[in-house]
Amino acid sequence: MQLISTVEDLRTARRGLTGKAGFVPTMGALHQGHASLVRQSVAENDLTFVSIFVNPTQFGPNEDLDKYPRTFEADVALLESLGVDFLFAPNVADIYPKGEAQISFQIRDLDKVLCGASRPGHMNGVVQVVSILFHLVQPDKAYFGQKDYQQFLILKTMATELHMPVQVVPCPIVREPDGLAMSSRNRYLGREEREQALFLSRLIQAIQQQRGQWTSLAQIQEFAAAELSQYPLVRLDYLEVLDGRSLKPLHDLSPESHPHIFVAAFLGTTRLIDNAPLWNDR
Ligand code: AMP
Repeated sequence: MQLISTVEDLRTARRGLTGKAGFVPTMGALHQGHASLVRQSVAENDLTFVSIFVNPTQFGPNEDLDKYPRTFEADVALLESLGVDFLFAPNVADIYPKGEAQISFQIRDLDKVLCGASRPGHMNGVVQVVSILFHLVQPDKAYFGQKDYQQFLILKTMATELHMPVQVVPCPIVREPDGLAMSSRNRYLGREEREQALFLSRLIQAIQQQRGQWTSLAQIQEFAAAELSQYPLVRLDYLEVLDGRSLKPLHDLSPESHPHIFVAAFLGTTRLIDNAPLWNDR
C-alpha cells in the first residue's frame, strides 16, 4: 500500500494508473463497517483508494472535531491487510488551502430533515469534502455505508447532478453481535451508555416487528416515547419514518410507499444514528 499525504503526490500517482478504481472515503478510527466497504471495493475494482481525513467542515461548533478518535497506525495495518493500493491521508491545509472552504453547496429537500436538520451545515461539509476527493481520486466506483443513509442519498444526488463519472455504491450496515451499528463514536461510550445504546437498534426491530399494525407516524413516535422510558441515559434526537427514496413525509406506511425508519439519539454527549426499511428485516 502506498501512503500519500499531499494533493500533489496523489495527482502524480493517479496520472499513470489504468484499470477500474474503487474509492472508500473515511474519517479513520476504522472498524469492521469500514472494512466491509473496503472489501467490496477490492473485490470489484483493479485498484482501491481509501482516504482518511477528519473533515472540519462537516463538524458543527459544539461537536467532537477536536476529540474525534484517531488510530492511524492501526488503520494503516488494517488497510494493508485488506489489500488497499493507496491510502490518501492529507492534512487540512492540503484540502482547504485557504484554511476554510471557499465554496458551499446548497442542498434542497434532502438536507431539510433528519441529520441535515439536526446538524446545520453538516451535509454541506460532507459534499464539500467528497466532491474534492472525487475530483482528486477520480474513482469509477465509490462506496458508502447505509448507516449514513441520508449522506449516501445526498452524495448520490451530488454525483448525478455534477455529472461525475462515478457510481455511488450503497453498502449494508455492519453491526456488533448484539445489534448496535458499528461507529467510530461507539468508543466514546461508557459501560452503561454502551448497554443503553441498544435502544436504537432494538427500537427499529420492535417497529419492524409490528409493521402491519401501524396506522400513522404519530403512533410509532408514541411507541418510541414509551420505550424510551426504559433507557434513562438516552436522549432522543429524532425518530422518523420517511420515504426511503426521497426522504419526503409519507401518507401511508404500506410497502409500496417505501417507509424507512430513522433514529438518532444522544448517550451523554455521544450522538448515534441508525436506520432500516420498515418492511425488510435488516
Ligand atoms: P466515517 O469514517 O464515519 O466517515 O465513515 C466512512 C464510511 O464508512 C461512510 O460511508 C460510512 O457510512 C461507512 N460506515 C460507517 N459505519 C458503518 C457501518 N457500521 N456499516 C457500514 N458502513 C459504515
